[in-house]
Amino acid sequence: MIKILWRGITLACAACGHRGLFRKFGMFSMLDNCPRCDLRFERMEGHSLGAVAVNTVVSAAVVLMAVVFALLVFGIDTPTKFLLLLAAPVGLLFPIAFDPISRTLWNAMELLMRPLEPHEIKTPPNGL
Ligand SMILES: [Zn+2]
Repeated sequence: MIKILWRGITLACAACGHRGLFRKFGMFSMLDNCPRCDLRFERMEGHSLGAVAVNTVVSAAVVLMAVVFALLVFGIDTPTKFLLLLAAPVGLLFPIAFDPISRTLWNAMELLMRPLEPHEIKTPPNGL
């Protein structure tokens, strides 16, 4: 389980560990299938909504952590304007930077919840 999640966090295919799942010069454009095991990443209709949910939850947690960190460092009487100036860039930029990871991480989570069917890949998965 840890191995599969690690593959998701490190932008690798959850089933076989292959990297390079995104098009060259297109970090936000994921391939449809894994080049090694041929796993189709969109395993069911609406699959990518899970990646959006993962990105939303993690981004909200990061924004909250930034605000809490600022409150701990600068005190609880920190002006709201300052907190917004700190949280807004984090809330805008982090979800964009995290998008590729959220996609592969969701694939890993989905693979743990719904194991592979033999017809979904062309080679036996490594470590599953
Ligand atoms: Zn693969």
